Amino acid sequence: MEWCLKVPVAAGEDYRSSLREQRLLDISRAIKKEGEHLLIPVNSPVAMEGAELLERELPSLERRETDYRRIVDLPEHLKELLPSSYDIIGEVAILKLDEGLIPFAGEIADALMAASPRLRSVALDRGIKGETRVRDLVVLRGDHGLGSVHTEYGVSMEVDPSLAYFNPRLSRERMRVAAMVREGEVIADLFAGVGPFPLVICRHARPQKVYAVDINSEAVAMMERNISRNRMDDRIVALHGDARSVLPRLPPLDRAIMNLPQMAEEFLDIALERVRRGGKVHLYRIMERDELTGFQEGILNKAGSLGYEVEVESVHELKSYSPSMSVYCLDIIC
Ligand code: SAM
Repeated sequence: MEWCLKVPVAAGEDYRSSLREQRLLDISRAIKKEGEHLLIPVNSPVAMEGAELLERELPSLERRETDYRRIVDLPEHLKELLPSSYDIIGEVAILKLDEGLIPFAGEIADALMAASPRLRSVALDRGIKGETRVRDLVVLRGDHGLGSVHTEYGVSMEVDPSLAYFNPRLSRERMRVAAMVREGEVIADLFAGVGPFPLVICRHARPQKVYAVDINSEAVAMMERNISRNRMDDRIVALHGDARSVLPRLPPLDRAIMNLPQMAEEFLDIALERVRRGGKVHLYRIMERDELTGFQEGILNKAGSLGYEVEVESVHELKSYSPSMSVYCLDIIC
């Protein structure tokens, strides 16, 4: 049954915003003008003073707006602060907001859910915490928690970003690394999270074994389920612990993935100790663009002081982190 409220045109905006605030407005149908009245679609038979409840079909809004910024109910001067991008992990949207937008976080979340009907939850990202790099998230909309299934390059992964780190924006980078892997390689991912690098690699290449280490027990539990979900139990070994103590127990490696971009170089010694001559290290680092040359020299010097000769084969800028900083990957040949 389709319901609407018949209200005087002059009071239409007051009714509409009050209904929207109470989440009673049916945004899938259009408001219709009839003489001196408006018919406002509602999603349940509500009673409001001065309005008449009718059972009426109203035209559906066929072309749904997909840019949440066009439908968000916000004072005009704040609209320029709205983020143009946000992360979608499975059925969950995660966004960062300028301080001035925080009082309107609920309205922004409503607009995101209206623009992307497959979303089940929207969360506010208040930054990354501690050693496990888990985001500090506040659920704005949705009552299903933040766990869902995310797909990437043919791999489906259970991810709960409130329990483990996951960055959907690195998908192309994971595929870039997977494309380099040769048959029979032995690989270690020192900071594997829920396992996206190992899973994408095993979907698109034929390594002999991938050892996937993480210090976060929640991430490792999800990774174990993801390995089984993708039927890769014979090729990926999930290991819980500090890479510094786990890595020395592994066999010689052809490739090491070091995606801990605040401090990966601090683990370079243990990686070089395990990677064979001619093997590769993918080292990720956030830095100022003008620090890049100095950082590369630092890597060569550090390796030299440990008795290894390495070469930086290539450097890739993956994504900007702030106006002056980016995330880089150094492909290093040992
Ligand atoms: N590579 C994963 C991805 O692409 O989603 C996750 C990378 S995340 C930036 C870094 C991960 O390193 C986190 O999951 C964190 O728990 C883990 N970590 C931090 N310190 C560690 C350590 N000393 N040993 C092993 N894992 C560690």
